[in-house]
Amino acid sequence: MSFLVLQQLEKTYADGTHAVRGIELSVPRGELVVLLGPSGCGKTTTLRMVAGLEMASRGEIHLAGREVTRLRPSERDVGMVFQFYALYPHLTARENVEFPLRSLGMPKTEIAKRLAEVTDQMGLHGLLKQYPRQLSGGDQQKVSLARAMVRRPLLYLMDEPLGTLDTDQRLSLREIIRARQLELKVTTLYVTHDQEEAMSLADRIVVMAGGLIRQVGTPAEIYDQPLDLFVANFVGSPGMNLIPGTITHDGPTTVFTPAQSSVCLPLKRRLPIGRVTLGVRCEHVRQDPGGAFQGRVRTCEYLGHASNVHAQTDFGPIILRHEGAETPGTGAMLQLALDLDHVVFFDPTTEARL
Ligand code: ATP
Repeated sequence: MSFLVLQQLEKTYADGTHAVRGIELSVPRGELVVLLGPSGCGKTTTLRMVAGLEMASRGEIHLAGREVTRLRPSERDVGMVFQFYALYPHLTARENVEFPLRSLGMPKTEIAKRLAEVTDQMGLHGLLKQYPRQLSGGDQQKVSLARAMVRRPLLYLMDEPLGTLDTDQRLSLREIIRARQLELKVTTLYVTHDQEEAMSLADRIVVMAGGLIRQVGTPAEIYDQPLDLFVANFVGSPGMNLIPGTITHDGPTTVFTPAQSSVCLPLKRRLPIGRVTLGVRCEHVRQDPGGAFQGRVRTCEYLGHASNVHAQTDFGPIILRHEGAETPGTGAMLQLALDLDHVVFFDPTTEARL
């Protein structure tokens, strides 16, 4: 059995909101799993049920081979970090970090050892004597993370721990969290709606929508092989280009034709005749003098290392990645091709990948 198992987990709040609608998830020991999804999809509710802060309406939670569904938070041996720091204001940073170890009755020498270790690893030098009110938001969250990660519980539960921080602080704390988690190998559930954070931290990502899991996979699986149109559109910045069209057969060749166009794209795989939606990432739309279709540039977003070019084609808008400093001007006509090794297809009715 996996280390953390959620079986048909459901939550209906007293006002009738069906926040989580039957989640099945197995997490092996030591894995960092990110729950990713838009606001209101049930990420926090799921995490809070695992923590014991919300009671599940149905289903079971198993942790380290033991059913914990109805146990109090203190009986589950989990370490939690939330978006807001929740440090004890009357204790210094050092006392805050030591607090959970003292509560466990750990010997002083062991507490000192753990404090030194976490101070080094999380860069707390210079902060330890300060009270929370004397610390910046980023440093307060660093102390809050240290207070959770100084312990070695069965599970870390983190709910948008970097949500209120600026980009620099987010990047640096993200790296610190991952390094410490990898070293201690504590199984971790991490909630975010920031997909870049999810991609960079996760061993596996759980994409949620409407209280359900839409896909579980490695960041690369989620990005390259989305299971449905929702995941294709939600994951990635920008999301996948989605081009409605039809599949026809020309002898042995399968051909995709975008709706309202005469463009014919011969495919390398056989698909049944009918309506489909083609999905392609912007980095797999390329400028090619021999390309099968044209796009007129509407706008360019300069990203530093590259640009996202928004172009209008006969069959609708498309976004392509343009490498290099010179960006095409508004109104320029580009000859375009799709990298057909990297396209995916969806059934427009069921929205599932074909
Ligand atoms: P966010 O990223 O905005 O925090 P989330 O994915 O974490 O969103 P949840 O906080 O789990 O989503 O909320 C899921 C649904 O349950 C939402 O519709 C929310 O309004 C509702 N909800 C959350 N807590 C309660 C509550 N205590 N009572 C009633 N409904 C609630």
